[in-house]
Amino acid sequence: MLSLLLLLLVLGLTGPGQAENPPEPIPLPTPVDVGTWPEVRVLVHRGNTPVTIRCSEGVQVRESGQEPRALEEIVLVPEAGQVAHWTFSASAPLELEGRTYRGTLEACLEGGTLQVINRVGLEDYLRGVVPRELLSSQFEAVKAQAVLARTYALAHLKGPEARWDVRDDVGHQVYGGVLAEHLVSDRAVRETAGLVLAWEGSLASRVVFHSTCGGCTEGNENVFGTPPVSYLRPIPCLDQAGQPACAASSYSAWTLEASARELGQEVGRSLGKPPLAIRALEIRQTFSSGRVGRLALLLEGGEELELQGDDLRRVLRLRDSSGQVRNLPSTRFLVEPDQEDGKIRLSGSGWGHGVGMCQWGAIGLAREGWRFEEILERYYPGTRVLGIAQAWPGALSPP
Ligand SMILES: [Zn+2]
Repeated sequence: MLSLLLLLLVLGLTGPGQAENPPEPIPLPTPVDVGTWPEVRVLVHRGNTPVTIRCSEGVQVRESGQEPRALEEIVLVPEAGQVAHWTFSASAPLELEGRTYRGTLEACLEGGTLQVINRVGLEDYLRGVVPRELLSSQFEAVKAQAVLARTYALAHLKGPEARWDVRDDVGHQVYGGVLAEHLVSDRAVRETAGLVLAWEGSLASRVVFHSTCGGCTEGNENVFGTPPVSYLRPIPCLDQAGQPACAASSYSAWTLEASARELGQEVGRSLGKPPLAIRALEIRQTFSSGRVGRLALLLEGGEELELQGDDLRRVLRLRDSSGQVRNLPSTRFLVEPDQEDGKIRLSGSGWGHGVGMCQWGAIGLAREGWRFEEILERYYPGTRVLGIAQAWPGALSPP
């Protein structure tokens, strides 16, 4: 009898009723000091004009085939036909054309083009990235951005066969070096040191983010045409009241307009074609997020031209409320029916491609008390915040 009672107790503890309870939260990994490794190689200059590298403490210059020397500044003049490679180091940040960088600089001259690369420890790199991507009094949103920026950078590290890993502009992550650094983002980088976003235990290497979704994010396949990624799904971006969490963004609602003739000229220019005689626009497909998948430009004479996905942002250019001609901020829009003034008018919401974390939404959720790992796990369903050594065991040892 006693053994039967024990058996019932055991069944009761492990039965279906218990399984419905949420699992015990797994404690967040402790931030770890990853030192200066891994290092990120950032392309910070590319051109064919002279550049000056200097440091008030003196610059150690190493040039291929020559003895190292110490100078206060050096001017590199790209000459056609010259092939050269320099490395620059100093006991203080190095200056390059009014910008300042931690770590070392490398310059390569080839085919008359000079490339300058900043080799910088991952955490110092993030200090120059996070404030350029998201700086807010909502600290948990800044921490979420720090984890994302770290994950993104690690996912873009290339092997020794490549000269650099990332550019310093919107093509990758905007990086401003020491001049961009800010106390708030420095603290966010420090408090999340070594933390990354992981999918099934490995680095979530496809993370992307954007400014403002307008109320719902988008699946990667609908924007980039790439195979669906499990954690880049359309996610409602709503606050507790059911309103868009990104409503504080100045792009939460917008209107653009143009005459058919003006739009035809702009589309022609974007496509490298003569001006198009546009009669009207017709939306052919809208995704569940509210983004336009296919749009037809109906032309005089019965012809038409169909545009798809993110091409719409590149090709369509109309005037904003200040009269400035600009690209479509997002593909989440409606074509307003026939206008009395004959103009084509689009009203929409959002800024950016709409995939992954909505930065203004993260700020909105942080304001409601969400922690950075909760924000990330919401915008990237199925992911977890892990320590870099767990998500990528080889990351902490130099190759
Ligand atoms: Zn949003």
